[in-house]
Amino acid sequence: MIPPIASKFVAGETPAEALDHARAMNERDVNVILNLLGEHYDDRRAADEDAEAYLRLLDDIERSDVSACVSVKPSQVGLDVGTHVYRENMERIADAADDAFVWMDMEDHETTDATLDTFEQLAYEHEGGIGVCVQANLKRTEADLERLADVPGKVRLVKGAYDEPAEIAYKDKARVDEVYREYLEYMFREFDGGIAVGSHDPAMIEHARELHEEYGTDFEIQMLMGVREDAQYELAEDYEVWQYVPYGGKWLSYFYRRVMERKENLLFAARAVLSR
Ligand code: FAD
Repeated sequence: MIPPIASKFVAGETPAEALDHARAMNERDVNVILNLLGEHYDDRRAADEDAEAYLRLLDDIERSDVSACVSVKPSQVGLDVGTHVYRENMERIADAADDAFVWMDMEDHETTDATLDTFEQLAYEHEGGIGVCVQANLKRTEADLERLADVPGKVRLVKGAYDEPAEIAYKDKARVDEVYREYLEYMFREFDGGIAVGSHDPAMIEHARELHEEYGTDFEIQMLMGVREDAQYELAEDYEVWQYVPYGGKWLSYFYRRVMERKENLLFAARAVLSR
């Protein structure tokens, strides 16, 4: 069982617990993106097992009344084993998702080409039911956004969670914020909707709201479970908000990552437990 301190960031170990959390969020007008925790499998069996878990989850979503979609890490469904394994598993997942949307998370820069190529292929085959994440800290992202502008589907812009080499990535936080703003401007100007602002940063969200006013382009806001949840509920009164919700047995390393990236998270989690 997940200890109460970690359950601020992880919905549970089972799909049933994740769907219960989804229902609770839906009641607050927040939609849910479910992510089964797991990554970097170097044998095919583990990758296939997680792909099959996603197929069962999509079936559960289909049969439930929740507003939920899924987000899949490439290395979780086979990218470290081989691009063809990743592609085959993503195809199975995309085929199984009738009405539910399928997101592809983005991992480190060595995976970007394979992830975008697979996204592009699936996005055309599934008429816009697929989305991909791009990272503002990578210098290549400007060109990637140009490539993605006319592809059906959605694009989630994040600042980037991986520690990338300086030759290919902006390392300075202020510079990443600056390009994030520029990329948002490009997306609101050139995209025909399908924009997901994947950020907790009030300044980026405000910028997106202003761009929406200026260009009228549709967008959604995505944030992680356990982070700025009051803001999520408030924003959901006026905008489409999706909460990224991890679940599954591999919760410990995810919880550790949340605490390491922001030490206050431990304090917030402890407070949430004490106030129960
Ligand atoms: P930061 O730049 O970290 O912080 C800016 C401001 O936001 C802070 O000053 C504060 O005001 C506010 N803030 C941030 N965190 C908190 C907090 N915990 N509590 C209170 N206020 C806070 N990265 C990838 O590389 N690949 C992915 O596929 C990916 N998917 C993601 C999906 C979603 C839905 C989200 C939200 C993020 C994803 N990320 C992904 C992570 C992303 O790249 C960033 O590392 C992460 O979101 C931190 O950047 P930020 O824009 O949220 O804010």
